[in-house]
Amino acid sequence: MTDRFIPIADARYAAAVPTIPVDAPVPAGRLLDRRGRVLHDLRISVTDRCNFRCTYCMPKAVFDRDYAFLPQTSLLTFEELTRLVRVFVAHGVEKIRLTGGEPLLRKDIERLIAMLAPIRTPAGEPLDLTLTTNGSLLARKAQRLVEAGLRRVTVSLDALDDDVFRAMNDVDFPVSSVLEGIEAAAAAGLAPLKINMVVKRGINDGEIVAMARHFKGSGHVLRFIEFMDVGASNGWRLDEVVPSAEVVRRLDEAFGLEAVDPGYRGEVAERWRYRDGSGEVGVISSVTTPFCGDCTRARLSTEGKLFTCLFAHAGHDLRALVRGGAEDHQLAAAVGQIWNRRSDRYSELRSQHTQGLPKVEMSYIGG
Ligand code: SAM
Ligand code: SF4
Ligand code: SF4
Repeated sequence: MTDRFIPIADARYAAAVPTIPVDAPVPAGRLLDRRGRVLHDLRISVTDRCNFRCTYCMPKAVFDRDYAFLPQTSLLTFEELTRLVRVFVAHGVEKIRLTGGEPLLRKDIERLIAMLAPIRTPAGEPLDLTLTTNGSLLARKAQRLVEAGLRRVTVSLDALDDDVFRAMNDVDFPVSSVLEGIEAAAAAGLAPLKINMVVKRGINDGEIVAMARHFKGSGHVLRFIEFMDVGASNGWRLDEVVPSAEVVRRLDEAFGLEAVDPGYRGEVAERWRYRDGSGEVGVISSVTTPFCGDCTRARLSTEGKLFTCLFAHAGHDLRALVRGGAEDHQLAAAVGQIWNRRSDRYSELRSQHTQGLPKVEMSYIGG
């Protein structure tokens, strides 16, 4: 067997240090981009490491023993992160999602949560603070996460069938341990959970109905995600995407579904409920129905680079400003300028011409 060689552009180093404009944005004001989208959500990758090698995210052929993960000194410290979050929240961010890599692998993640949980919006409201995890460490950590102040969690789970699941995570991790994690999280008070399933044709699309049946009536909301062309290493092909419309049709045939109105502008999941009243499911159709027009999120990489689109090829080096002694109003001015200049809408433009463009890996930027 010959090894598969996949060249990836190391976009981690493609970043400019933002300039600091003289005028800081009005405190407590909202930041608007060129398309009139407010900055509302911040996703923070707290580590680029993971104990899984999901074939669609961190394929083994690339993320192998020789892969150079970031050194500890490159990571934003919890103090640096908390300071940046305060600046973002002062300018309109209300929702923070900790992600990665696998966020529960970051040492003392509970301490970070305890530092972020007390932060209030300018209106005095608590943050919507949540975390996305592969669930492998959740049974062990759920209670401590809740005690630190976490209120919600999203667990990724791609199949119920153990063989299918082990093949997708590619480290032979058993599905039973993730299901235990989900139960532990619910018991600790993180219910209802969101469960994310990335669907790949010919790999786990046979699990769609079984997954729905399992979580139907549990209170947890299962969401089906179209396989996306994030990063440059996952060998994405359009024919492996199962369109959300097909997922909905299959579930409708099996259980009967009706549409639910979106909860708020910018909600990425299209919501459906079972006609028998036993709960909701969602579909996230980034490929077949792009939602760039309502995209209100920014991403902060593990080493403090700000990305204004999941498919961006370069970030803005906020860590350089933080470590270079910038004051809070200067950080705010830099972030305000970056957001004001934003015009990203990759998914709307997706075509064969965008396929070869360099992009950062999702494990680095945060999914
Ligand atoms: N390790 C955590 C996890 O798996 O939940 C958090 C990070 S992971 C990058 C965040 C989310 O991105 C997961 O729900 C994962 O399934 C999703 N994801 C990763 N690669 C993807 C792809 N190519 N297309 C669609 N979703 C993807
Ligand atoms: Fe790890 Fe999450 Fe990526 Fe899977 S999707 S490899 S669990 S970061
Ligand atoms: Fe937002 Fe970029 Fe995704 Fe469009 S492609 S929804 S702008 S992250």
